[in-house]
Amino acid sequence: MALNVVMLGPPGAGKGTQADRFAAARGIPKISTGDILREAVQAGSELGRRAQAIMARGELVGDDVMIGIVRERLARPDAARGFVLDGFPRTVAQAEALDALMAGRDPLIVVDLAVATEDLVGRLTSRRVCGACGTNRSHPAEAACGKCGGAFVQRADDAEDVVRERLQVYARNTRPLLDFYGKRPTFRAVDGGRAPDAVAAALAAAIDDAVARAQQGDERRRELAR
Ligand code: AMP
Repeated sequence: MALNVVMLGPPGAGKGTQADRFAAARGIPKISTGDILREAVQAGSELGRRAQAIMARGELVGDDVMIGIVRERLARPDAARGFVLDGFPRTVAQAEALDALMAGRDPLIVVDLAVATEDLVGRLTSRRVCGACGTNRSHPAEAACGKCGGAFVQRADDAEDVVRERLQVYARNTRPLLDFYGKRPTFRAVDGGRAPDAVAAALAAAIDDAVARAQQGDERRRELAR
């Protein structure tokens, strides 16, 4: 069964870090819509020009644009064996579109990384990322990026006023996805408030458990169809 994973959770929950680790461990691509948009901004493409101001304010890029980006990306051959989506869907309209894109594919495994709201502002405003490759600084004492040697910078949208707006946008537009997905047998919540290694272990266990559940459902459907 393909590992079609969606990582939910507020900004600062650690979705990107955990998605990176899980995707690398399982040999499937991590698809981060934030990364795709930041690359477009750096490249100065039409998409980048349109997205830049919206991102700087902490608001959401339009659903149609985002759905188009993800449709194209999921159609690429490397996503056939599975993927980890980080930062998409962020609205109910995007989640509905993703369900439509999944027609004929294995079911989505949806994991919510839960972190207390009061911890998020501190996590985000102290976050530093490599200006060259985007990797998160893993420790405040890390002087240069361990992957490429690049210098660490603060993301423009990790400034405190933008962080507060992003958290409001999350509460308004994205948190409703917990109701949208919450009753599915392949939905799992993972406590993201712990050390990264503990979160990674819990996340992998939750995903494997959800896959087993999906496979049982599959077998049951086949039995009923006999
Ligand atoms: P992220 O790196 O996931 O925190 O995303 C950074 C910014 O990119 C967000 O604050 C949004 O402005 C934009 N963005 C990323 N993914 C989406 C999405 N699925 N829908 C709308 N905007 C998005």
